[in-house]
Amino acid sequence: MDIRERLNQVKSILPATVTLIAVSKFHPEADVEDAYAAGQRIFGENIVQELRRKYENLPKDIQWHFIGHLQRNKIKYIVPFVSMIHAVDSFELLSDINQHAQKIGRVIPCLLQIHVAKEETKFGFNFEECRQMLKNENWKKLENVRIDGLMCMASNVPDEAQIHQEFHSVWNFFNEMKQQYFEHDEHFCQRSWGMSSDYTIAVQEGSTMVRVGTKIFGNRLQKTE
Ligand SMILES: *Cc1c(COP(=O)(O)O)cnc(C)c1O
Repeated sequence: MDIRERLNQVKSILPATVTLIAVSKFHPEADVEDAYAAGQRIFGENIVQELRRKYENLPKDIQWHFIGHLQRNKIKYIVPFVSMIHAVDSFELLSDINQHAQKIGRVIPCLLQIHVAKEETKFGFNFEECRQMLKNENWKKLENVRIDGLMCMASNVPDEAQIHQEFHSVWNFFNEMKQQYFEHDEHFCQRSWGMSSDYTIAVQEGSTMVRVGTKIFGNRLQKTE
């Protein structure tokens, strides 16, 4: 199967309410062009330099989502054009994005990354940290970022019940935050979860955005996590 066929296969089992982010990291620009020719307009990348290069070389109506861990000293390279930043994991990062966005008069949609997988990783808020961040209302003063929802990754395990449980707990947490802090904010509506191995589970557990790479573009040459 080629990229167009795999893309259509993934799309065919997504409800119309779920946005597909085609994760093109480590794949050549020609692969992005193939997916673009098949109608895909939203792509995800997790390396700043690679994202910049692709942004410069590829059609300007592509919406680029930054899905990886963002280092604070690299914010300025993507803020001028990025459509969404998925993995905001501290107030400081949110505040720095705000500062760079303010300089150029943009408002950047962001998602807060929740750490829910059992695996050891440095990134993401746990539920309590996220509650504390939102409770302390400093984020409301940041006029050049907009919190559009939450993002997470489930554990990389074969046990589907565990994956269901992890996504489900973040979905519940999303509802709690929506009610507490975003009840009248229509923009807080995104739940970014699900990758190649678990996006069908994610869709059952409330995902509104799936980030699918391998299933569309094939295996990556480099390891990226
Ligand atoms: C690489 C990556 C994906 C896509 O992973 P696949 O397994 O190739 O679908 C999704 N989300 C994040 C944060 C990633 O880094």
